[in-house]
Amino acid sequence: MEKMSELIEEVVIGDRRYRLSRTGYGSDRYGPCDICGKRADSVYYQREERLYWNPIFWRYSWTGEGCEDHMGHRECLEKIRRKIK
Ligand SMILES: [Zn+2]
Repeated sequence: MEKMSELIEEVVIGDRRYRLSRTGYGSDRYGPCDICGKRADSVYYQREERLYWNPIFWRYSWTGEGCEDHMGHRECLEKIRRKIK
């Protein structure tokens, strides 16, 4: 059975939300880090989402549209998060 990835961190930076998961596997399974291109013993998956106004439900919601999901080293994924200007 496939091991479930484990959500280990969720951070909101401005209008972006980042959900970081530990896959439990390394580059042997997922290939090199998306960001630096080097191999990783432990590959993480980061989903980026953006806050938007949903006119149907009349509230703010999160969407992955126009956002980037990446896999790689935890430090590399942390570096690509948007900074608040
Ligand atoms: Zn990396």
